[in-house]
Amino acid sequence: MEKNPIIIAIDGFSSSGKSTMARRLASAIGYRYIDSGAMYRAVTLFALEAGFIGPDGQPDAAALEAALPHIHVDFEPQPDGTQHTMLNGVDVEAEIRRLRVSNVVSPVAALPAVRHALVAMQKEMGRKRGIVMDGRDIGTVVFPDAELKIYVDASAETRARRRFKEMIDKGSAVTFEEVLANVVHRDHIDTTRAESPLRRADDAIAIDNSNMTIEEQDAWLLDQFERVTNAK
Ligand code: C5P
Repeated sequence: MEKNPIIIAIDGFSSSGKSTMARRLASAIGYRYIDSGAMYRAVTLFALEAGFIGPDGQPDAAALEAALPHIHVDFEPQPDGTQHTMLNGVDVEAEIRRLRVSNVVSPVAALPAVRHALVAMQKEMGRKRGIVMDGRDIGTVVFPDAELKIYVDASAETRARRRFKEMIDKGSAVTFEEVLANVVHRDHIDTTRAESPLRRADDAIAIDNSNMTIEEQDAWLLDQFERVTNAK
């Protein structure tokens, strides 16, 4: 890592490919990668298992808020270079990606107490800089002073198609329509919630990757990184 590491914030809609972009950039430049969505997913899994989510999919805000001090979310590096999300010491990486969690994560992430707790943890993770974090509010709320901010967009259909393929490849029995409905529903909640809704930071660079290959995205991001670090 260079002498003055920076903070890179990558925000965008669900399944916009931002996690892939963020992970690959972090690995190319030797930075730490944090998937903030995984943290909201882990808290949601905790809420599901504790019985804090009603049959209507709405969380019991008071019960969850009281439990927050007992919820510890962390990331554990794996031998293959990836990292797994840990919830109170248990590897929940596979569990948090299931539709059961995706279906109720947005109402959980809309709770101010949940956001305050996770944003505080995320700020702490960025204290030493040299970090790439992806999410919805990284450039606007978590790191408003990040030196490089990217806002990733792609159509709902393109994003649902990617997510559907990923889930089928992992053996999930889902239909394209279910995945598309989930993507559209989460977009709606994520952009209209009162507490830090998804929006492009004024100083973020927007990219629509609907028609870009992974290699093209990698090259574009690396260019942005070099532009910012060379100007310092
Ligand atoms: O990124 P991912 O789709 O895995 O995130 C899951 C959910 O967590 C999102 O739909 C959103 O509701 C929430 N989220 C958030 N703020 C973040 C990251 C994720 O509200 N920084």
